[in-house]
Amino acid sequence: MVVKPFTVDLDKPLVFQVGHLGEAYNEWVHQPIVSKEGPRFFANDYLELLTRTAWWVIPLVWLPVASWLVSMSFRMGLTLAQVPLAVVGGIFIWTLLEYGLHRFPLHMKSTSYWHPMDGMRIVFPPAVTAILCVPFWNMSRLLSPPSVAPALFGGTLLGYVAYDVTHYYLHHGKPYKRLTQDLKKYHLNHHFRNHSKGFGITSSFWDNVFRTVPSTKTAEKMSNQ
Ligand SMILES: [Zn+2]
Ligand SMILES: [Zn+2]
Repeated sequence: MVVKPFTVDLDKPLVFQVGHLGEAYNEWVHQPIVSKEGPRFFANDYLELLTRTAWWVIPLVWLPVASWLVSMSFRMGLTLAQVPLAVVGGIFIWTLLEYGLHRFPLHMKSTSYWHPMDGMRIVFPPAVTAILCVPFWNMSRLLSPPSVAPALFGGTLLGYVAYDVTHYYLHHGKPYKRLTQDLKKYHLNHHFRNHSKGFGITSSFWDNVFRTVPSTKTAEKMSNQ
């Protein structure tokens, strides 16, 4: 008797299917798939809804929080010149987090149900982000004086919003500008060709610093900019 290798049927719920892939998950997740709605996780409609987040939910939820945090630093006595500096510092912290979170926790060889071509599950659900905010807010308070911390963390949150929206756009938008076209090539190369290089999504800055720039033509062009 010949045992057929397990394959994923995208017309059926993914939970309990992708789990069967075991070691092969890592291979499946790096292959392109085509499906209109994105794969289904659960047969149950309510459970299914909880796993989906539209990209526009991200700015809708987090931009007001970021603005409120920035304004808090004003109210706590930072000047008009100091607030933007703290915000820029926070954005810079985000770029390092983007690289670090992507390279390490998100690349652990574990099994999961997610696929990069799945448009409703590409951004982080706000509930997950809210939980992650706790350690990073505490980190901001450790790194800076009390009046600076809210604007610094607000900047980190702004960086996160820019990242999540950019990441969605690179997968599902049609970039017409040179910069976004290059970012898209750089990122798709990461997903589908060489996923041990090119962890930066909004820029290749930290890939240059930590020497993880892939050696394709596109990547060389990016790193020389
Ligand atoms: Zn991606
Ligand atoms: Zn990745």
